[in-house]
Amino acid sequence: MTSPRFPEGALIGVLTTQPLDRVLDYRAPPGGCAAGDHVEVPFGPRKVTGVVWGAGAGDYDPAKVKSAIRVLDIPAMRAPMREFLGRVADYTLTPMPAMLRLATRAPGLTDPPGMRKIFRRGHGQPGRMTPARARVLDLLEEHDGMGFMLGELADLAGVGSSVVKGLVASGAVAEEEAPRDVPYPSLDPEMPGKALTGDQAMAAARLREGIKAGRYGTTLLKGVTGSGKTEVYLEAVAACLAAGRQALVLLPEIALTAEFLTRVEARFGAKPAEWHSGVTTTERRRCWKMVAESGAQLVVGARSALFLPFADLGLIVVDEEHDTSYKQEDGVLYNARDMAVLRASLEKAQVVLASATPSLESWVNVQAGKYARVDLESRFGPAVMPEMRAIDMRGEEVPSGSWISPSLKGAVRERLERGEQSLLFLNRRGYAPLTLCRACGHQIGCKHCDARMVEHRFLKRLMCHQCGETAPMPETCPNCEVTGKLAAVGPGVERITEEAQALFPDARVTVLSSDLFGSARALKARILEIAEGAADIVVGTQLVAKGHNFPKLTLVGVIDSDLGLQGSDLRAAERTFQLMRQVAGRAGRAEARGTALLQSFQPEHPVIRAILSGDEEGFWAAEAAARRAAGVPPYGRMAGIVISSPDMQAAFDLGNRLARLDAPLRRIGAQLFGPAPAPIARVRGRHRVRLLVKAEKTAPLQAALAEWAAQLRLPANLRLAIDIDPQSFL
Ligand SMILES: [Zn+2]
Ligand SMILES: [Zn+2]
Repeated sequence: MTSPRFPEGALIGVLTTQPLDRVLDYRAPPGGCAAGDHVEVPFGPRKVTGVVWGAGAGDYDPAKVKSAIRVLDIPAMRAPMREFLGRVADYTLTPMPAMLRLATRAPGLTDPPGMRKIFRRGHGQPGRMTPARARVLDLLEEHDGMGFMLGELADLAGVGSSVVKGLVASGAVAEEEAPRDVPYPSLDPEMPGKALTGDQAMAAARLREGIKAGRYGTTLLKGVTGSGKTEVYLEAVAACLAAGRQALVLLPEIALTAEFLTRVEARFGAKPAEWHSGVTTTERRRCWKMVAESGAQLVVGARSALFLPFADLGLIVVDEEHDTSYKQEDGVLYNARDMAVLRASLEKAQVVLASATPSLESWVNVQAGKYARVDLESRFGPAVMPEMRAIDMRGEEVPSGSWISPSLKGAVRERLERGEQSLLFLNRRGYAPLTLCRACGHQIGCKHCDARMVEHRFLKRLMCHQCGETAPMPETCPNCEVTGKLAAVGPGVERITEEAQALFPDARVTVLSSDLFGSARALKARILEIAEGAADIVVGTQLVAKGHNFPKLTLVGVIDSDLGLQGSDLRAAERTFQLMRQVAGRAGRAEARGTALLQSFQPEHPVIRAILSGDEEGFWAAEAAARRAAGVPPYGRMAGIVISSPDMQAAFDLGNRLARLDAPLRRIGAQLFGPAPAPIARVRGRHRVRLLVKAEKTAPLQAALAEWAAQLRLPANLRLAIDIDPQSFL
């Protein structure tokens, strides 16, 4: 597709990142420009950047239309990318300037190319070590050879730039001239991959076929943990690179990136480009530009990598496609899995959705024939899926303040005697979810939210899991001022750790919870130690369910299998099923067959029974039928509307006015529920009121929502967020 060219002085429409609801008219700069070009334009007294979106509308006084200043020396935004941004904006009801911000989120795009000074770890040692110098050196070590700009390094280490310069003088930090934005080392798709088993080879062949066809297609790659999904989709990456196109692999968690990069290096001889919040700004800029200039063949990243300016994208892999972290819950509310499918369809690219426990949405799309499906049945190596059993907690004698049943205790003891590892799983961070005053019954809550403060005993703090507020653990009840009566109620992983250590004083007990590690790197290091046998009993949150390998682990004990079954979330059953399967899949990955024991007070619950029987297809069919009957996603459509304000009454008033103005929604046959207080009715000091819209699958929901919301002008301190296909119902 060639973009129309505009000669100097021609009227052009420029989309900027300024919060305006329209594309602005300018005149083409000297030398002319083309649709998609990044340009610098005058905006009031300032200069801002934007993208030429097409011909100008011409509805402005021609005498007042200013000329664009220049075309930036970066590759133009391709037509499929412009269409992608427009379609995501329409789908998520996001203003275009916000979409453009998402697509140009790299620093220094307006800078001229050339040389720049960068700073890395040098060979020398500082004459005298100070805390400030140590911070700089630790940071450089942590980023493993990566170069930083001076200001960036000083900022991240929290020191003045003179500290860095002092380190340069001693040779502890090296200052180098480096060309900006060099291409990434080239990956060799011809290098031999790991030997594949029969069904892995078959699965890889099917994915390669899709790539070779050079057209759009989505494949669900389903395989139990350890079945070799990664090896298989790396074959699709190899085929894509061999065809001269670019590939993108999305991972749900930064902590998984390091291990994945190592696998890519082993397979293709070099590391790929990285894009996530842990990457330095210098590297982000390099990644953005190289992706646009075909200087990066493969990008591994978080969901926002979907908005990188690929020159020729041939494959998107969404690993752990069911993972809830693919849904962006702040700013532009999009689901990266669904938007990956949209982008691939515009780029004539293939999508691989990999999971051991697919989302119901993907399962339904396979049933409907929209997605292909490839199954990996056998496990990589001799191990098989663990044996799963419930422990009926109604028949167990568990003293109050304890949560590990005698049956589970016995199973852990057996593992200890055999020198094997056990995992005790509880999806609750901290020590106790509730701190209660035994004198007056007061529950300690967050000052800013309607959430309870969670005790984190290891950090010696109370913490709000909604807003992150922390406070020291009080001695005295803040309500009745009686001392010594505050009691922890219910278990978190820290408390289970304490219980396990008391039950097995000679065992090495460790806890894996994201809040206990300062950095992704520290967490990763600890996971490796545990995998190599540094602990006998691991107590962990859902963090352990996410793709980490523990070869010595043969027992998984789920402390509270019923935890996810309560609550009003329509995906509660699906989430519980997925999480339990993933956690159980941690057991017995090497030689020994593992066991998973699920403590439950309702072992006859259909979800628990489905988990135990391992009848996945049966579970999905039953869950799909229930959703179809209720007309909820994926068989119906939903949108969540959250109104927030420092003033509760103002939020409710707006909600009620919106509810009365529901004609645009009624016209499409949609139902409106609410306003009601959101499940967590106050977050960060803002009161939250929620409305829920439910419509048939084919109803033009976005258009109706846009018309509906446009009827009201929002007062200054009220916010309204529309979430299409809400995942969480907070
Ligand atoms: Zn009290
Ligand atoms: Zn809070």
